[in-house]
Amino acid sequence: MIPITIPVLEESEAQAAAAVVMSGWLSQGVVVAEFEAEFSRIVGAPHACAVSNCSSALHLALLTAGIRPGDEVITVSHSFIAAANAVRQCGATPIFVDVDPAMFNMDTGLIAAAVSPRTRAILCVHQIGMPCDLARIVPIARKHGLIVIEDAACAAGSEIEWDGKFQPIGTPHADVACFSFHPRKVITTGEGGMLTTQRADWDRNFRMLRQHGMSVGTFERHRSSSVVFETYKQAGFNYRMTDIQAAVGLQQLRRLPELVRRRRTLAKAYGQMLADIPEVTPPVEPIWARSNWQSYCIRLPEWADQLGVMQTMLDRGVATRRGIMCAHLEAAYRDNQVRFPLPHSEAAHQHCILLPLFPQMTDVMQEEVIAALRGALVGQDRAGH
Ligand SMILES: *Cc1c(COP(=O)(O)O)cnc(C)c1O
Repeated sequence: MIPITIPVLEESEAQAAAAVVMSGWLSQGVVVAEFEAEFSRIVGAPHACAVSNCSSALHLALLTAGIRPGDEVITVSHSFIAAANAVRQCGATPIFVDVDPAMFNMDTGLIAAAVSPRTRAILCVHQIGMPCDLARIVPIARKHGLIVIEDAACAAGSEIEWDGKFQPIGTPHADVACFSFHPRKVITTGEGGMLTTQRADWDRNFRMLRQHGMSVGTFERHRSSSVVFETYKQAGFNYRMTDIQAAVGLQQLRRLPELVRRRRTLAKAYGQMLADIPEVTPPVEPIWARSNWQSYCIRLPEWADQLGVMQTMLDRGVATRRGIMCAHLEAAYRDNQVRFPLPHSEAAHQHCILLPLFPQMTDVMQEEVIAALRGALVGQDRAGH
């Protein structure tokens, strides 16, 4: 059986977690601070604030950006639903624009027409690790006085060309970037998230809101030699990461360059193998971006039955996943007005599948995936289209 992914977790992660357990301090403390410092160093952001997951990171980013009920946030439907949910958690309305059919990211040509007097921000997504076109998005946002929040959930280790050189996603190209460390992503802490920004005041606000709006954190009070009373200026949340998770995260960060290198090699190999199946469209990486290949998304021919192909591959021991979801097609978004047509989002959802891609994959496994795909398509072709 070839699964869709396997996280790379070894003895060093287990030992790091065990050391925190034995230290007696398990919740947010020094190890979270260390993980933040290392993450900010790696992506080149002045501030990094760790939280419980990327969904809470998106919520804090939008709240700190001042998103309030009645506001509109331009984003994509074609993404994991957490992005749209975070907008609604602020009482605001996600305004969905369509995606580019080749790169599965926000079509930047559609943004300006989606700006209304209520628009406050653009929530752009680096979908499955492929950077979206920030060099276009940020100037459009500035022209209209909008905040830019990056959903970088899948994009740890991805890079974008900026000022003539490649820089990691999370470098402050926009206002704030939000990362996920869910096991489905490139590095994991079980559950976990991170906000990176160059705005010191925003970082302070993230830190305050992630622990109930407290003026002085539990750990700081614990360490203080004098008695400290905390105050609560705002109603906040419990969005903290634990030191156990952060310890695992520190080990994962050490692996990140090698994990991304391996993923790029595998993605390149898939591209070469798919050249022999002309009816399948491989993913496109623009010259200004370097994906971390969190997922490898291929487009099936229109005549192919997506579910049938996936089932035939599964019967042969190869797991796949359906193309990225569309929030506007889900019951949870039935009442959300769809202001613009989203044909490319819907087509990508219906005709794309994700192939297994994980660092432990061997050449033989990749060949098996491609053989299963080819077999499934031949089977459908014979069945008559
Ligand atoms: C995974 C993902 C999220 C949610 O991340 P969690 O850490 O699970 O909350 C948000 N947006 C996108 C695009 C994702 O892929």
